[in-house]
Amino acid sequence: MRDPRYDILFEPMQIGPVTAKNRFYQVPHCNGGGYRDPSAAAAMRGIKAEGGWGVIFTEQCEMHHTSEITPFIELRLWEDKDIPQLRKMSERMKTHGALAGIQLAYSGINGPNLYTKEVPLAPSALPIRTFTNDPVQARALDKQDIKDLRRWFVNAAKRSKDAGFDLICLYGAHGFGIFQHFLSRATNQRSDEYGGSLENRARFSQEVIADMRDAVGDTMAITLRVSLDETIGELGFSNAEVRDYIEMNKNLPDLWDLAQGTWEDCSGPSRFKEEAAQEELVRGIHELTDKPIVGVGRFTSPDVMAKMVKSGTLDFIGCARPSIADPFLPKKIEEGRIEDIRECIGCNICITGDMTMSISRCTQNPTFMEEWRKGWHPEKMNDKGDSDNVLIVGSGPAGLEAAWALCRRGYDVAVAEARDVIGGRVARERLLPGLSAWGRVVDYRDYQLSQRPNVEIYRESELDAESILEFGFENVCIATGAKWRNDGVSRQHVVPMPIAEGVKVYTPDDLMDGTIPSGRVVVYDDDHYYMGGVLAELLAKNGAQVTLVTPSAYVSDWTNNTLEQIAIHPRLVDAGVEIVLNQGVTEIHPDHVVSNCVYTDRTWKIEADAVVMVASRLENNAVFNDLKAREAEWADAGIKSVKLIGDANAPGPIAWATYAGHRYARELDGEDIGDALPFRREITELAAD
Ligand code: ADP
Ligand code: SF4
Repeated sequence: MRDPRYDILFEPMQIGPVTAKNRFYQVPHCNGGGYRDPSAAAAMRGIKAEGGWGVIFTEQCEMHHTSEITPFIELRLWEDKDIPQLRKMSERMKTHGALAGIQLAYSGINGPNLYTKEVPLAPSALPIRTFTNDPVQARALDKQDIKDLRRWFVNAAKRSKDAGFDLICLYGAHGFGIFQHFLSRATNQRSDEYGGSLENRARFSQEVIADMRDAVGDTMAITLRVSLDETIGELGFSNAEVRDYIEMNKNLPDLWDLAQGTWEDCSGPSRFKEEAAQEELVRGIHELTDKPIVGVGRFTSPDVMAKMVKSGTLDFIGCARPSIADPFLPKKIEEGRIEDIRECIGCNICITGDMTMSISRCTQNPTFMEEWRKGWHPEKMNDKGDSDNVLIVGSGPAGLEAAWALCRRGYDVAVAEARDVIGGRVARERLLPGLSAWGRVVDYRDYQLSQRPNVEIYRESELDAESILEFGFENVCIATGAKWRNDGVSRQHVVPMPIAEGVKVYTPDDLMDGTIPSGRVVVYDDDHYYMGGVLAELLAKNGAQVTLVTPSAYVSDWTNNTLEQIAIHPRLVDAGVEIVLNQGVTEIHPDHVVSNCVYTDRTWKIEADAVVMVASRLENNAVFNDLKAREAEWADAGIKSVKLIGDANAPGPIAWATYAGHRYARELDGEDIGDALPFRREITELAAD
C-alpha cells in the first residue's frame, strides 16, 4: 500500500491542454540508440510507461536538416518519412496512460552539420561550440532565416502531432538548443530586435511558441527547457536573468522545464553532486509563473520528491538517470515498495553510450536498451530451465547480479565469497573519496537477496576447484574478479616496465587495503578512467605530495564520456596535485621515476618516494582454469556447466560486470543459438535507386 506521505506525487496535473496522471516526469534523455536503433529506443520508453511515469519524453530530436550534431546519434524529424518511427515511440509511451513528449532541438551554435554539410545557422556568427572543437563556424541568421526557422518549427510541430505526441519540449538548455543561444548574451551578439536587451533576446522564443500554439496548441502542450544558469560568467544567461525572463514571460510555455546550465552540471555525477543539487537555483521560480515547473536533481528518494512538491519548489519530479536505473520507480512508490527501488548511483555510464555513439548501458539496470534487442525486462525474468541449482564463486557486481537474476528465475543459488564482506570491488571502491553512492550496487542486491528463500551467501569461503567438484552443483559460475597489476603493463607498456630491484610499487588494491604511501608520490595513470584521479585525491588528502603522470592529454581521460573530467581536473588542482600530461613513465627507481614525453620521447627525472601504478588488471581466473583442466571429472561431480564471467573473464567497468552477471542468468539452460547474433538488430531498408 502506498504511504500517504507520497499521495501528492500521484495527483494529476494539467499541462496546457493535456493532463498528466501523476508527477513523475521522465525528462528527455539520450540513449546512444536514437535514429539508428528506433525499435530499441521505443521499447525502452515503453518500459517506462509500464513503470508508471506520467510523462515520458524522447531524447533530443533534430527538427530540421540544417542543424544536426553528428557524430552523436539522436532522433530526427526532417521529413514525413521520419514520422512512422517516431509514432512507434509515442505509441509505446502512451501504453499505460502516460503522456508522450517529443523534444525538438535546433542546435544552432552547437550543431556542426558534419552529416548534412549545410552551413550552420546561429544567432551570431561564431565557431561551433561542442565537445569536439570542430573547425566549423556558424553564419548569423538573417531576418529571412529567422522567418524560415519559425516555419520549420511549425512544420516540426505538425509532424510531431501526426506522430502522436501530446507534448513538445523546445530545447534551450545545456548550451545545446537555439532558444538558449538567443537568450544568452554570450551567443547572441545581435544588434537588431532579436539581440541586446532581454526583451529582444526573448523575442525568438515568444514568436516560435506563438506560431506553434496557432498550429497545434489546441491539442498539444508546449514546454520550454531552459538552463537555470549558463555558468559562464557575466555574459552568460545567469540565474538572475533566467528569473527575469520567466517573470517577464510568465505564461509563455505551458510548463517550464528547468535544467542546470551545462550538461556536465545538469547530469552531475554523484562524485561531485548530491541529490537535489539544483534546489537553490530553482527555489522561488514557482512564484514568478502560473505555469507548472519540472526540475531535475537525480531524485531517487520519495521523501525528497514529496518535499519538492509540497514546498512548492517543483510541480513535477523530473528524472532521467533515476528512470534509467529503475524504470519502475513510480510504480514501486505507488505500491509501497520503497526498498525495492534500484537507485541510480550517479556514475554516468549511461551517458557514455551517447558520448561514444554506441548504445547505452546502466550499471544498476543491465536491461537498459536491451528491452527490444534481447527482450529483457527490468522486473521480469524468463522461466527457469531444466537444471535446478547454481554455485556462484565471487560476490562482486557480476556474482551478485547473477545471483539476484537467477533466484528470480527460480534456481537455488549459493554464493561463495572469500572475504568477510560481499560486493567485491564495489565494497572496496565505495570507501574511496566521492564514490560512496556506488555502494548502492551492493546494497540493492544484498537486500533483495536477503528477501529470497532460494539464495544462500557464504562469506569467508574461498573455494578452489577441488571443493567446487565436491559440492556437486549443476552449474558453476566463476565471478572471481581481477586484481591490479604492479608491473606497468597497460597501453604505454605492453610488457612489464623496468622497475629497479627492491622497489615497492603500490597498486590501487594496496591503497584500498589501507597501505597508503606518503612523502613524494607519483601516480602513474595509464588506465584513464576514474581510479588514477580518485587515488591522487586520496593521497593528497592524506598529506602526500602527489604528482599524477599520464600519457594522455587529459587527467582521467575516459571520464570525458561520463562528463566528470571537467570536474576532476580542478578538484585535483585544488587538492594540490601536480598534473603532468602527455608523459609516461619508463623506469622506476628507489627515489625517482624516469618520465618520457609521448611525442618526442625526451625524458625527465621526477623525484618520488613511492609510485602508485594505475595500469591494468589481471583476471583472477585460476579457479576456472583448474576446473577446466579437470573437465573429465565434471559429470561424476554432477556438474553440467561452468562459466567464467565479469572481471575474471575480462576486466572492465562495474556496468560491464552487472551486465555479464545478468546475461549469464538470462541465458542459463537456454537453447544453443550457434553462430546466430545474440541480439536483435535493426537494419535500414534499402531505398530504390
Ligand atoms: P566482478 O566485477 O567481476 O564482479 P569483483 O572483483 O568485484 O569482480 O568480485 C570478485 C569477488 O570474488 C571478490 O569479492 C573476491 O573476494 C571473490 N573471490 C575471488 N576468488 C574467490 C574464490 N576462489 N572463492 C570465493 N570468492 C572469491
Ligand atoms: Fe545512474 Fe549510472 Fe545507471 Fe546512469 S548508468 S542511470 S548514472 S546508475
